[in-house]
Order: sequence, then structure tokens, then C-alpha cells
Amino acid sequence: MSNTIAFIGLGHMGKPMALNLLKAGHRLKVFDLNAEAMKELQAAGAQVGESAAQIAKEAQMVFTMLPAGRHVRQVYEGENGLLQAVAPGTVLVDCSTIDAQTSQDLATKAAKLGLLMLDAPVSGGTGGAIAGTLTFMVGGEDQALEKARPYLDAMGKNIFHAGKAGAGQVAKICNNMLLGILMAGTAEALALGVAHGLDPAVLSSIMARSSGRNWATELYNPWPGVMPDVPASRDYQGGFATGLMLKDLGLAADAAVSQNSATPLGELARNLFALHAAQGQNAGLDFSSILNLYRQRR
Ligand code: NAD
Repeated sequence: MSNTIAFIGLGHMGKPMALNLLKAGHRLKVFDLNAEAMKELQAAGAQVGESAAQIAKEAQMVFTMLPAGRHVRQVYEGENGLLQAVAPGTVLVDCSTIDAQTSQDLATKAAKLGLLMLDAPVSGGTGGAIAGTLTFMVGGEDQALEKARPYLDAMGKNIFHAGKAGAGQVAKICNNMLLGILMAGTAEALALGVAHGLDPAVLSSIMARSSGRNWATELYNPWPGVMPDVPASRDYQGGFATGLMLKDLGLAADAAVSQNSATPLGELARNLFALHAAQGQNAGLDFSSILNLYRQRR
């Protein structure tokens, strides 16, 4: 009998990831607090559950894709939490981006209960989640990773074993701190050029083939209309929310403090995203909307 997989958290990222598990032929049970989020999965063949614990206790492998550390703690060790609900030997894979300490604490508690737990945050955005080309940054034991690998392969293209429990989160936080810095920098450069009368598409093509080239100029341009299939060209809807980027930059700041590391650009980016997120509905818009902090409207 093939394994049953439980997937909890069907938001911007979790839904396409779960759909890719279904497409690969896996038997899937899903749960999200938002019943709407489960409908598409149900239509695609997943079984819908009544709680995280209910679907997880019947599964051999459990994936979670939740917003922040407090949600992860609640789902794993809150009332009716996964740690108490699942059978010994179950592999728990948390793909959310959260603080490394929470991942380590949960992995330690899981091990005491005879469970295997990985932190496996992802990079690649909603585009990568839909295409099944995510990068997984994994922290935890080899044995757990080898059990999870066939399922990670169905959702991603690159799987990196960063180290022990929590190491995946550290790698992810470093990556996203750089992403926040490069997105703010790209928006700043584009706004400067446009203020001088340059066409943002022309300036973007120049920078994409020059030494200012980066992920934003190549794949995720923040200026509306420069690229067809990015959040900037659909009023910054979908994608990676400004509020989530602000959370990740806060995680990077906390991580820096804990090791007395200097991260001046990361802190500056955190402040820019905090100012941006505080205005109107910006926290829910894609993070490339940071451009609006710089853009001069004439
Ligand atoms: P999201 O807010 O779109 O989705 C989160 C989902 O979790 C929602 O559907 C919500 O209803 C559900 N949820 C919350 N609490 C729950 C609970 N107790 N039980 C069941 N479901 C619950 O967030 P997202 O954009 O999918 O991001 C998820 C994680 O992935 C975050 O940690 C984020 O930082 C990270 N991430 C996001 C992106 C991106 O581009 N969106 C890229 C890489 C990593």
C-alpha cells in the first residue's frame, strides 16, 4: 500500500506544492483553516480533513506550509497538536520559513517521541511552487531526508542538506535577507533612472545584461508592465507578501543579534519594508511593491 501524505497549510505556496504531490500520483489528505483553500485540492483528488491532527494521524509523511513560527508551534504542539497526534516513525516536514530555534525545539521534542522531523524551507516563489522547481534547504537527520526525498522531488528541483535541525532555516534567512536587499536596491535604481526620463523596460534590459544583474532584473521585475507574468504587472497581487518579507528580515535581524553579527544592509532593508508595510494595504501586496516607496508620480 502506498504512503498517505498529509499536507497542512494551502496558501500561495502550499496549494501548488500539494497539487504537485497529487500530480506525481501520491495519496493526499489536506487541511487548512480556510475551507475555500481546500476546494481546489479536493477537486484535484485530495481528501479533505477536519483538523490537522485528524489527517496527520493516518499519514506516514506530514508536510506543513504555514505563515510564521507561532502558527507552526500551534499546529505542532498546541491543543490537538501534531506531535501528540501522529504515530511513531512518522516523518514531519515543515516547509514554512520560521526561526531556527523553533525548528530545533520541535525537532528535539519530535525525536523524544520517536518521530523524524525536518525543517525544509523553500525558495523559488509561487512560480517555482507551481512549476515544481522549488529549492529546498533542509535541516535534520540524513535518515529523515532520505524518506522525504521522493516527495520533495515532486515539488522541487534542488534539494540541499544544509546541516542539522534548524540549518535549513538559517540558510533560508540568509537567502531572504539578500533577496530583500536586492529587491529594494533594484527598485531604487529603476526609480532613479525613470526620474531621469529613462524607460523602465530599457533600463531593466540594460541592467539585466550588465553588472547590476540579479534575480529581480532577470525574473521578477518590480516595475509594472516590464515583465508579463510577475506580481508587479498584476497590481502586486499574489506572489510573496510584503508582510512575509518583513517577517523574514526580522528573523535575520534576530539571528544576527544572537551571534553578534553585523548585518547593516539587512537592517536597512527591514526598516524599508517596515515603513512600506505600515502604509495602507501594502503588507498584503507582493514584496516587489517596495518600488512604490521610491516611485515618483508626476
Ligand atoms: P499564505 O499566508 O498564503 O498561506 C498560509 C496558509 O496557512 C493559509 O492558507 C492559512 O489559512 C493557513 N494556516 C494558518 N494557520 C493554520 C493552522 N493553524 N492550520 C491550518 N492552516 C493554517 O503564506 P504563503 O505565501 O503560502 O507562505 C507560507 C510560508 O512559506 C511562509 O513561511 C513564507 O515565508 C514561506 N515562503 C513563501 C514564499 C512566497 O513566495 N509566497 C516563498 C518562499 C517561502
